[in-house]
Amino acid sequence: CGIVGYAGHIETACDKPLEVCLQGLKRLEYRGYDSAGVALTAPGMDKVAVRKKAGRLKNLVESIERKPMPAATVGIGHTRWATNGEPSDVNAHPHTSMDGKVAIIHNGIIENASQLRLDLQAEGYRFASATDTEVAAKLLGKIVDKVIAEKGHPDLFEAVRRMARMLAGAFTILATDCRQPDIVVGARHDSPLVVGLGDGENFLGSDVAAFVAYTKRAMEVDQDQAVCVSADSVVVTDFDGNVIADPKTYTVDWD
Ligand code: GLU
Repeated sequence: CGIVGYAGHIETACDKPLEVCLQGLKRLEYRGYDSAGVALTAPGMDKVAVRKKAGRLKNLVESIERKPMPAATVGIGHTRWATNGEPSDVNAHPHTSMDGKVAIIHNGIIENASQLRLDLQAEGYRFASATDTEVAAKLLGKIVDKVIAEKGHPDLFEAVRRMARMLAGAFTILATDCRQPDIVVGARHDSPLVVGLGDGENFLGSDVAAFVAYTKRAMEVDQDQAVCVSADSVVVTDFDGNVIADPKTYTVDWD
């Protein structure tokens, strides 16, 4: 339903990724939602830090106040409007890979989730939730491992593109991998995704409301494109990896 992402400087893990995610989710509240969650990554983590709660954003915020989350360099946040699986803590996003190293958030509906789930289950993948999104999370984890085996190093951008080519239906997806704590990767098909351009930091959102408190400079991600965002770079490609030379940028004229 609502999506926000943040990439800050790799040298300085801090509370800003969490702050931006919670602030962005608050700004996206007008869209309505039934659950909320965040995932944070920083150098040295061996799993992505995830917190998620059914109900109002307040439930998530209170949970984090009771048990603070670690300082981070990148973060992603989600408010869910359940389509596959009831509203619950377990079904809330982010969803993670089997090893907990990769987390994703998702807007939309993955139409071939049932078949993909059966295929993954046959290979031994286990599922905690009833969501279509967790199928994409497990699939992405599998592809990330395959890419590491092929290239000798993680490449979340490449893995997300391969995943996107396998999904049917509507999706905006953001992903983070604790082995690459400098980037957030996104992809979209029939669902919106916008980049917010900052100075030494960059933002992502399902709409500009997610980051307009921080920057008014925005960049469009078009249909069937993927984007890799770090503190000081934004790269947009199609799902085959061809770089989009000059993505359209504009200034948001409201706050
Ligand atoms: N289909 C996903 C789910 O039910 C995402 C729903 C949304 O767009 O919030 O969890």
